[in-house]
Amino acid sequence: MRTEPGKPKKTTALQTWQEMLAFLRLNHSELVRNWFDQLQIKDFDRGYVTIVPANPTQYTYLQNQCIGAFSEAAQAVTGRLVAVTFERPGLMGENHYSLAPLDQLMLNEENVFGNFVVGPCNKLANAASIAVAREPGKRYNPLFIFGSVGLGKTHLLQAICHEIHQHRSEANIIYISSETFVNHFVEAVEMGTVHEFRCRYRSSDVLVIDDVQFLANKDASQEEFFHTFNCLYQAQKQIVLSSDRPPNEIETLTERLISRFSWGLVSGIDKPCYETRMAIIRKKAKLKGLELPEDVVSFLARAIESNTRELEGAITKLQGLAMLDGQGVTMELAQQVVPEPRIVNWDLSIDQIVETVTRHFNVKVTELQSKRRTKTITLPRQICMYLARKLTRRSLEEIGGHFGGRDHSTVLHATKTIAALIETDLNLRANIESIAKSLTGNRLA
Ligand code: ADP
Ligand code: MG
Repeated sequence: MRTEPGKPKKTTALQTWQEMLAFLRLNHSELVRNWFDQLQIKDFDRGYVTIVPANPTQYTYLQNQCIGAFSEAAQAVTGRLVAVTFERPGLMGENHYSLAPLDQLMLNEENVFGNFVVGPCNKLANAASIAVAREPGKRYNPLFIFGSVGLGKTHLLQAICHEIHQHRSEANIIYISSETFVNHFVEAVEMGTVHEFRCRYRSSDVLVIDDVQFLANKDASQEEFFHTFNCLYQAQKQIVLSSDRPPNEIETLTERLISRFSWGLVSGIDKPCYETRMAIIRKKAKLKGLELPEDVVSFLARAIESNTRELEGAITKLQGLAMLDGQGVTMELAQQVVPEPRIVNWDLSIDQIVETVTRHFNVKVTELQSKRRTKTITLPRQICMYLARKLTRRSLEEIGGHFGGRDHSTVLHATKTIAALIETDLNLRANIESIAKSLTGNRLA
């Protein structure tokens, strides 16, 4: 399916789009959404490619986030310098201070409760979100969800919006990031439209603000938000907030906001455990219509520990690779999509490293452990220490212990020395990479 640049070929619009999609899944997995499958393409042979979104939400998303990636994909698969445009659906609201229909909230359709995997790490936050969505303004007000990046805060916040909208379509819901709130406010001050700004935010029934940590250091916006908060709270309107840390750890947030944020319920999301990661992978694959063998599911769950967004990116990439191959997903493909620095073989022992290195450099294990300092011995010894740091979870002390009871500073020094050497000595670098590869089956990160 790859085409050399400059060699146009005759294909149908559908084929072109499918190849573009495979390209996007491989190279821009973070942008790809499930509904991309249903996008239409037309006019692809007149110097530009027109993509037809199904609704204004899709249009806004494509227009704001995807122009660059789509152009790149179109050029890669057609081999020509083509431009991408997105056809604008009719009936778009022009003025963003007017009341937004749900379509303009830029919610991701997949961020609903049904797609959220519940585990010990997020049980409370999930239950509280459902309670709030069922009875906005009554149960936990405000609801404050915190947790580090990629753990599902935005997913829960948007699920609340979807759920409320479904049962109370008349409710005026505002979902924005605090950054957008700040930008709107600054713009309103500059344009002299602060009054409209206030009406807009204070007339909402549900105000959902994502990533409130961006309010830190924005004094005037904090002040404005404080009044918006009070106004909505007194009218028993629901407020939902998220942040990457709990309220009292957001520096330079005024005390009165910290205390208000804690009036309702503050609930944290932790990193998902292994079983939850497995369930999330299965769920995401199913949503994308991708079949994953069980060994691939557990491989990915083990390899990507901390961040669900990365898990999702890996699955999207896998889908792209599988499509290129025209075959199903295999372990081999899966190994290609795991982010490099995490390729660490935790089961590897220092003995295995020593054995491979000594064989490679033709020295004896006892020599490595001796006090000898000739270069033929020092270098392999330092390489062992370097690789042990890179490829195992052993501490500096443990590693030092393996080489005649050397202390942690020796190991640190060895690691730095080798890291510096391989910057310039490409021969040595190739040697070390080949050792690492034979130890792990993968390239050294
Ligand atoms: P955050 O806002 O906390 O940085 P997001 O809500 O954007 O994280 O989540 C990142 C990605 O991971 C999203 O695609 C989201 O759907 C997914 N995700 C996170 N947690 C879960 C979960 N428990 N179940 C299903 N998907 C999840
Ligand atoms: Mg988020």
